[in-house]
Amino acid sequence: MSHKHALILLAFIIIGAITGVLYGWYFGTQAQQLAWLGTLFLNALKMTIIPLVISSIISGVGSLGDIRHLGRVGGFTLIYYTLTTAIAVMVGLLVVNWIQPGSGINLGDPSIPEHILAKQDTGMADIILSLISPNLVASASQTQLLPLIVFAILFAMALTTIGKKSNTVFAVFDGINEAMMKLVIWIMHLAPIGIFALIAARLGNAGGGEQFMAEIKAVGMHVVTVLTGLAIHSLILLLILVIVAKQGIPYLVGMARALVTAFGTASSSATLPLTMECARENNIDPKAVKFVLPLGATINMDGTALYEAAAVLFIAQAYGIDLTMGQQGIVFVTATLAAIGAAGIPEAGLVTMVIVLTAVGLPLEGIGLLLAVDWFLDRFRTTINVWGDSVGAAVIHRLM
Ligand code: ASP
Repeated sequence: MSHKHALILLAFIIIGAITGVLYGWYFGTQAQQLAWLGTLFLNALKMTIIPLVISSIISGVGSLGDIRHLGRVGGFTLIYYTLTTAIAVMVGLLVVNWIQPGSGINLGDPSIPEHILAKQDTGMADIILSLISPNLVASASQTQLLPLIVFAILFAMALTTIGKKSNTVFAVFDGINEAMMKLVIWIMHLAPIGIFALIAARLGNAGGGEQFMAEIKAVGMHVVTVLTGLAIHSLILLLILVIVAKQGIPYLVGMARALVTAFGTASSSATLPLTMECARENNIDPKAVKFVLPLGATINMDGTALYEAAAVLFIAQAYGIDLTMGQQGIVFVTATLAAIGAAGIPEAGLVTMVIVLTAVGLPLEGIGLLLAVDWFLDRFRTTINVWGDSVGAAVIHRLM
């Protein structure tokens, strides 16, 4: 897509997002009638994810050549992801200790939502177990990307060891990957209308602007804390982009179609196809695009990590429980793991927060306090998740 074409599309996507907010705000529940249009866009994106991720990883690992090169790129990628996630959690802890959003909150009678109670696989061992699936088809059918990525990496590594016989296989996956990216460009043109509908319908579902504001007010300082933390972290990422990756605002503008889509869909997995296409257009090395971004969409969630830390401390403050430095250390480690374990789907972070709450012995009912505004904060943290991945691709491109 030409630069001019991309900018025009971006303008339409931003207009779509803004009109979506206005429409949902004023028309309230009526706006839910538009939901199908948003679902259409979302389904079109989701349709591409599995073939795209598998072909990208296989052709990406293939193009890296020998396993040592893969080890180097993989090593840098994991170091970048771990470091930035840790920074995000630190920022979360600092802002929540500074603003103290939970003090004096009216607890009411919070209850734990069903889908969180039903969620059993939230222990540490489960996160590790989720890396390998006994049934790839079942994982694909539920868009569980992590085991598919692990399989694709292992499969491609095996291919690199069988000599000439692998050439055709790599060529097939290269071709599939190119075709999938073409499809993504077509689907991207649905984004303005899709994002308009997704935002309008979700705000409509919340009862429109007035009702939404009333809900926000109840935990207003929590919202302010999380948004402040996310804003600070996005600037830190921008600094990393400038200093380490030697890129700047044009890169941010180039990635903006993916960022607004992340806001509209609240899902980094659904946004992944656009993230990859935008990074390609920004001249990021295809190897970094194909390998770093699918992995990032699944395990690198800076916004979620920051949110988990901030939300758990908010709950502690609301219950009047003082967490010691040691306990905050436990929050630090478990929030990082919980973010890695969270799937790139809407409100997944709320579910894995159980790990963090349990680790420091806080009441799970605390999650009930956050429910009403979680869908809203989810959009912001997903945008930062995708921004973290985008900066990651630029950093690895530079270091490769
Ligand atoms: N919705 C987020 C994502 O897809 C995950 C979360 O924090 O709930 O990146």
